[in-house]
Amino acid sequence: MTRKLFVTTALPYANAPFHLGHIMEYIQADIWVRHQRMSGHEVNFVCADDAHGAPIMIAAEKAGLTPQEFVGQIAAGRKQYLDGFHIQFDNWHSTDGAENHELSQDIYRKLKAAGFITSKTIEQFYDPVKNMFLPDRYIKGECPKCGAKDQYGDSCEVCSAVYAPTELKNPYSVLTGATPIMKSSEHFFFKLSDEKCVEFLRGWALQDNRLQSEVANKCKEWLEGEGGLGDWDISRDAPYFGIEIPDQPGKYFYVWLDAPVGYLASLKNYFNKTGKDFDAFMADPKTEQIHFIGKDITYFHTLFWPAMLKFSGYKTPDNVYAHGFVTVSGEKMSKSRGTGISPLRYLDIGMNPEWLRYYFAAKLNAKVEDLDMNPDDFVARVNSDLIGKYINIASRAAGFITKRFDGKVNTTWATADDAFLQNLRAVTTEIQALYEAREFGKALRAVMEQADVINAYVDANKPWELAKQEGNEAKLQEVCSRLLEAFRILTIFLKPVLPHLASQVEAQLNIGALQWADVYAPLPNQHQINPYVHLMQRVDPLIFDQLFDAPAAAESTAAAATATPSIEPLADEIKIDDFAKVDLRIAKIVNCEHVEGSDKLLRLTLDVGEGKTRNVFSGIKSAYQPEQLIGKFTVMVANLAPRKMKFGISEGMVLAASAADEKTNPGLYILEAWPGAEPGMRVR
Ligand SMILES: [Zn+2]
Repeated sequence: MTRKLFVTTALPYANAPFHLGHIMEYIQADIWVRHQRMSGHEVNFVCADDAHGAPIMIAAEKAGLTPQEFVGQIAAGRKQYLDGFHIQFDNWHSTDGAENHELSQDIYRKLKAAGFITSKTIEQFYDPVKNMFLPDRYIKGECPKCGAKDQYGDSCEVCSAVYAPTELKNPYSVLTGATPIMKSSEHFFFKLSDEKCVEFLRGWALQDNRLQSEVANKCKEWLEGEGGLGDWDISRDAPYFGIEIPDQPGKYFYVWLDAPVGYLASLKNYFNKTGKDFDAFMADPKTEQIHFIGKDITYFHTLFWPAMLKFSGYKTPDNVYAHGFVTVSGEKMSKSRGTGISPLRYLDIGMNPEWLRYYFAAKLNAKVEDLDMNPDDFVARVNSDLIGKYINIASRAAGFITKRFDGKVNTTWATADDAFLQNLRAVTTEIQALYEAREFGKALRAVMEQADVINAYVDANKPWELAKQEGNEAKLQEVCSRLLEAFRILTIFLKPVLPHLASQVEAQLNIGALQWADVYAPLPNQHQINPYVHLMQRVDPLIFDQLFDAPAAAESTAAAATATPSIEPLADEIKIDDFAKVDLRIAKIVNCEHVEGSDKLLRLTLDVGEGKTRNVFSGIKSAYQPEQLIGKFTVMVANLAPRKMKFGISEGMVLAASAADEKTNPGLYILEAWPGAEPGMRVR
């Protein structure tokens, strides 16, 4: 039965070029989609730029552009990445497109008519210099619980207290430094707390095979947690770059309302361009709607999004598949530390995009796990497996067929009961099932096991020796023809991962585009192939020096140049004596563990050279696994008064960097000392 698939990746925020994490997600989805296409299913694979919201409005203003011009420049830079890594979306649109305005407003009107929209007047911080309401992330101040300075308006990174921005002490606007004033405004809410909503989401999220088990468990926690789900504030006041709320002048949809609607808008835009019927497709019960996303946005995709769709009468998602983040050699990617990888630089220095596709695929599974990119591992997998095992088969056989047999294969042996063929064909169903289940690493292992079997056949039959022996022509032609047929089948197995290489193989074998069904259709007897040209180079390990040695200008497209990230305003000037009051010391992280019951904190055991260890809680759980930190040397504030926290006493604070704008860069980066620094050394 032919499936009808509507597949998306998460919409990237249109304030910066793609990073490696985007490329990983697109490759993951692209492999899955190509597998479906090779099975003969109908796939509509779309994405769009997430264009709205305060961060883009502010960045555009800084660049002296309208928001539309700003996101237009970012959008113009997308194609080189997508083409470069053979990522084949059917359509790329923008959430600022007309379709998204219409659909978002339609969904809102229907939610309102169904009684799921409520309004209330709330008091919010307002920047009197900038004349705008301040999103939580644009307000900082002192934590109302522990007094830590420069904490964001929603939570404290020191003691991990969660609070309303209005509770901050001595608040200031990150945009202007002005002291914000309180101003009231009417806001609109989606009634996520409605019993009908909660009941629907419970059924939706916990349905078998809809979500990964770890995601379903998280949903269960959210649904059954203390206080349950709160209503969701979906409106923002002008000035805002977004979609106006119908009949509410000066009010706009919060960017997270219209962003996922962008999936539908991109599909509709694609259907409009190609003459397909959007409404009929979405109304068809056979249509499957599947979203690939990063683990950081599951909340939006497994609560708000399905509920919005359900109660506005739209089709709800069939599956949401979350993946982890990309790390490099066990650490978060970081430009300053030389572990940042620019996808464009990867292409510019001549690294083969399919090496990366193969490597990511080899490490991807169906779980919500981070994917670590390690140069030695990368070289080993590409050179030993992809080239040493797979490409090797063609290079052993194709030359003899061309030189000795006028390019013609003999496949009279290729009958349905031929054991050599049967063994190879027998794994097809398993490999297809692994692709379907997004277990790409296991799929490639199964392919490489077959490659091992074929290479054993090469060694047992030694075509290069047969070629030297008189009277063995028929044997040589059969051995080489078997190898080419095996190579053709392995190419089908690998085609979702290596589409460009597969098209080169198709040209070389002089055949049409390979589909899954072609596993069972051997090359016809006396079929003539084209002369062999080497298909893929090995990775030179030294190239990683160029990859990591990425100058900041590596992505200096016009768009990137205007998207210079903003930093938060500097604090008031101090004297050296003021600084000396802060006693910073090198601390060795001798142990690190999760804190039961806390989403934000890790418990660090620090050696500061005092002959005893210190216990410090740090709000860095979103950024690090405990085992990544054990043994590292960092910097701590050693003379901070001990603080009693919910989970125990914290005896100091470790230093970590974070961006002013968490949508651009949600990361936290703990400081690490250069080798040679010892516990207890003072940092001055
Ligand atoms: Zn605090």
